Amino acid sequence: MVEANGDELAELESLDNGKPLKLAKVVDVPETVAHFRHFAGWPERVYGDVLPVHQDGMLCYTRKEPVGVCGQIIPWNFSLLMASWKLAPALAAGCTTVLKPAEQTPLSALRLGELALEAGIPPGVVNVVTGDGETGAALVDHEGVDKLAFTGSTEVGREIGSKAGRSLKRLTLELGGKSPNIILPDADLDAAVKGSFQAIYFNTGQACNAGSRLFVQRDQFDDVVSALADRAGKTRVGPGLDPATQLGPVVSAEQRQRVLSYIDAGRDQGAELVVGGGSAVVGGGPSLESDGGYFVEPTVFTATDDSLKVAREEIFGPVLVAIPYESLEEVAARANDTDYGLAAGVWTRSLTNAHRLASLLKAGSVYVNCWGEVDPGAPFGGYKASGVGREHGREGLEAYLETKTVWAKLG
Ligand code: ADP
Repeated sequence: MVEANGDELAELESLDNGKPLKLAKVVDVPETVAHFRHFAGWPERVYGDVLPVHQDGMLCYTRKEPVGVCGQIIPWNFSLLMASWKLAPALAAGCTTVLKPAEQTPLSALRLGELALEAGIPPGVVNVVTGDGETGAALVDHEGVDKLAFTGSTEVGREIGSKAGRSLKRLTLELGGKSPNIILPDADLDAAVKGSFQAIYFNTGQACNAGSRLFVQRDQFDDVVSALADRAGKTRVGPGLDPATQLGPVVSAEQRQRVLSYIDAGRDQGAELVVGGGSAVVGGGPSLESDGGYFVEPTVFTATDDSLKVAREEIFGPVLVAIPYESLEEVAARANDTDYGLAAGVWTRSLTNAHRLASLLKAGSVYVNCWGEVDPGAPFGGYKASGVGREHGREGLEAYLETKTVWAKLG
């Protein structure tokens, strides 16, 4: 039903979030469909084991049971897709759920709730509740909720995590990132530039796994930065419903202000602004706000100091910080010098270097000669302050199951 109503869902997503309609059609909707399809295959594969325990005459087995009522809180960057990441495993495990979309982007989740009812999911199994952080907090605090699943900022994640620590609710968190993307000297530079551009500017930089810290070996640094700046300068920024738009606005005035203040901090602290750096001015249209929409120019900074705010903190907007390095060992250590650990990338033609870095980088996903690949069956989640637990596949499903061990004395 998501597939059949894909055009409508894509349009709702574009209206709500501002993302290009084309992006919603080729990414958000089909990946949501893939997620439901994947988890639709799990229910008949959820089973326990018979255990060869040492006691005579004892039957010992495990049952996998649904964890219960889930409170699921999602952000505004991929509302429909994040709803599927939450609902599909919960339903496959046999849970009921209360899903709270972000206050900025409630429409696609509400429509998904209607479709769930139309699809025959019994009333009360999938519940969509709109509201802001207060509503989210009420869900987190509610005694009837057994498991919390949250995707959003690390700040709110910490708060939910501490509450779950006290109430001992089950918990998964998918939080922020400041993901390092490393171009080695032996890389295919054209592919690395194209991929690194996508890594940061996809969804206007509003992706938790955005490749926002780009490390380039000193000898190639200037060439790579100028190629990226060239692309950024040519990118067409505009409203989501305009078919010519390549980069949509950020989600809200508040988010634009946040991104612009990071850009100011970058300038103030001595990062060099190569391209962008301001609100993009885009021709008005009937669906735009009076000030022309929440557009931000694709921005590239260079910096040599890893301690700058723009090099350490998650900006969640179209802002890249490029940083030169000398050696592989040095870049691995600098890449890992962050509170976060959601994703990391390596561009190289050397198998040895690829897998050496893949093992050295402390991140939940490592991309080699690509960026941002996802699959409903491939675990996704963070090391360190980027999260707790994993979503997708068996590990994602396990987060919605309890294991019960049954001991039966037979004789
Ligand atoms: P962002 O800063 O990107 O908007 P947030 O982490 O604030 O991300 O928001 C992500 C989701 O968490 C939204 O659905 C929001 O309403 C919800 N939320 C915000 N604050 C809280 C809170 N204190 N408790 C529970 N949910 C919250």
